[in-house]
Amino acid sequence: MTAALLDTFGRAATDLRVSLTDKCNLRCTYCMPAEGLPWLPAPELLTDDEIVRLVEVAVSLGVRTVRLTGGEPLVRPGLTGLVARLAPLVELSLTTNGLGLTRLAQPLAAAGLRRVNVSLDTLRPQRFLDLTRRDRWSEVVEGLAAAVAAGLAPVKVNTVLMRGVNDDEALELLDWCLERGYELRFIEQMPLDPQHSWDRAVMVTAEEILEQLSAHHTLTPAERGHAPAEVWLVDGGPARVGVVGSVTRPFCGSCDRIRLTADGQLRTCLFAREESDLRSALRAGATDAELAVRMQAAVRGKKAGHGINDPDFLQPSRPMSAIGG
Ligand code: SAM
Ligand code: SF4
Repeated sequence: MTAALLDTFGRAATDLRVSLTDKCNLRCTYCMPAEGLPWLPAPELLTDDEIVRLVEVAVSLGVRTVRLTGGEPLVRPGLTGLVARLAPLVELSLTTNGLGLTRLAQPLAAAGLRRVNVSLDTLRPQRFLDLTRRDRWSEVVEGLAAAVAAGLAPVKVNTVLMRGVNDDEALELLDWCLERGYELRFIEQMPLDPQHSWDRAVMVTAEEILEQLSAHHTLTPAERGHAPAEVWLVDGGPARVGVVGSVTRPFCGSCDRIRLTADGQLRTCLFAREESDLRSALRAGATDAELAVRMQAAVRGKKAGHGINDPDFLQPSRPMSAIGG
């Protein structure tokens, strides 16, 4: 048995996204309905011990980086303790909406967390309220500052632009991030919302974003590696800006990522329609070697691409928040 997670297209999975919960304290219109979603029952969620065990097995198969996500990972009770257990195993980062970072950034950094991505789609508090259905813009902004103060560098900001909603803010957001030393990443909106309201015509494309930014800044391509974002140096650098063009500039050919849902299902792609049930195997007493075989079998089944642009594309049944963004 090769100690690696290889698929049939020669890609090795070395980056694992671990969703810690499907719950969230915001209700971003493109991600969740106002009333929330039917949350996973508590007994179905992986415990800290189960997460650590699965990460250990993944590490034995070549996983080197783990990003904690959700739902909103900061709402998981005991997060700092879990981070302290995972940090010695892998390079650990976290994606968050920023709520609670003022309190948690320091203890998380002390526990071994290296970096955070904070999602922020607007600089306008009223627009934030419209977009997230919660009046908490300043808390996110304070959370970003707390992340810097805690040494979680570089702090990245994730932004989804939507036509007629916040697509007039691309440049303002970039300048705001440049002034504060945050690295901005625009993410093309993907068909992953529970309302199935994604519309290709409404999506703001990577090309449009780059056009807006280039009118005011000189962008020079920087090295990309396996990261999904294409990255540019802004005005000669060292400041950078990224664009994740998942839909119009797919990066599936160099994808090194797999995902573990909060209820212990391994997914080889955000858009996968199959999952491998690691939780049942774990709870039925599987050994580490058996879990490793399951992970390897799942990764062997990874498809060449996400297929969003294929005529027969079907959105996965889980929404983004339940997969782990
Ligand atoms: N709650 C955390 C947050 O908002 O950062 C982590 C989970 S969230 C699902 C992760 C990222 O996915 C966020 O930056 C969010 O804006 C983005 N996202 C959610 N739905 C999306 C969609 N349909 N297309 C593209 N990005 C999406
Ligand atoms: Fe919550 Fe993140 Fe989804 Fe917004 S994008 S509703 S913060 S999970």
